[in-house]
Amino acid sequence: MIDFRSDTVTRPSPLMRQAMSQALVGDDVYSDDPTVNDLELFAAERHGFEAALFCSSGTQANLLALMAHCERGDEYLCGQQAHNYKFEGGGAAVLGSIQPQPIENAADGTLPFEKLTAAIKPDDPHFARTTLLSLENTINGKVLPLTYLQQAREFVDQHNLKLHLDGARVYNAAAALNVDITEIVKYFDSFTICLSKGLGAPIGSLLLSDKALIARARRWRKVLGGGMRQAGIIAAAGKIALTENTNRLVDDHSNAKYLAEQLNTVNGFEVNTNHVQTNILFAKVDSKIDQTKLATTLKSQNILISTGNPLRFVTHLDITKDDIDIFITALKTAV
Ligand SMILES: *Cc1c(COP(=O)(O)O)cnc(C)c1O
Repeated sequence: MIDFRSDTVTRPSPLMRQAMSQALVGDDVYSDDPTVNDLELFAAERHGFEAALFCSSGTQANLLALMAHCERGDEYLCGQQAHNYKFEGGGAAVLGSIQPQPIENAADGTLPFEKLTAAIKPDDPHFARTTLLSLENTINGKVLPLTYLQQAREFVDQHNLKLHLDGARVYNAAAALNVDITEIVKYFDSFTICLSKGLGAPIGSLLLSDKALIARARRWRKVLGGGMRQAGIIAAAGKIALTENTNRLVDDHSNAKYLAEQLNTVNGFEVNTNHVQTNILFAKVDSKIDQTKLATTLKSQNILISTGNPLRFVTHLDITKDDIDIFITALKTAV
């Protein structure tokens, strides 16, 4: 299968499978799993944070961060397009009694400071308590500028808020900016990383912060049913994701650029190649094209695409340049 739907479809490498089969394990709810402990310690040191928590998913890691930063009746500022507002089932409100305050994202994915300032509530019983600003990087494939992150830090310090990063694809941001990951995450009080997207692990995300916040998050993780037992089986693959698969993300980015250029040679498809910064791209598709039929035709040739307009394509470690050529040939025939 050549699967352009998401980078979540990546399969664990032989190296990961070997590490998983041989992982030393214990009961992680007792903090007894040496492989989970090793991953958490490694991740904390690697990113310059005090502590890390291995979580079952990015959704869970974000929710734990929100629940550990905020109390009942608090609110967090976030993007209207933010994953942890729009795509996580309203978890912060449903399970945390935390109110989201979404702000319209600018075209580059940032949240304008004037709008954020205007949304901060006065200390008054009429209002929820504004506690946290949550950013996302990359957001829909776009990289937040480092200068913006620095300004965001100054902004939260000035307004006495905490700063969280939904960093599901933060390694893609680092690769695109050609900086070490610490140059991005150093501005934040907490951040998440998805190990199971472009980094290629089968399962798992990390939440990083200071020891006190991670202790609170660990408690909520158990409450949410996210305490896993011999989780070293999956943490072993997560460590390899962090040690082996971060440097190669630049290949996914150049493949995405190539895919964008090639899509522009197909009738009815249009991509603004200047907008392709990482591994996610969006194509405008002529409304005369029956996308459901197109997806079915391609599926019969072992190619999987999403539907939608704009239509999202994602590159990852299981997609090569040759795969893109095969896809473009099939697409031209199909349309
Ligand atoms: C995928 C994603 C998540 C959630 O990760 P899951 O492991 O799918 O729950 C959170 N934030 C962003 C930006 C994502 O892309």
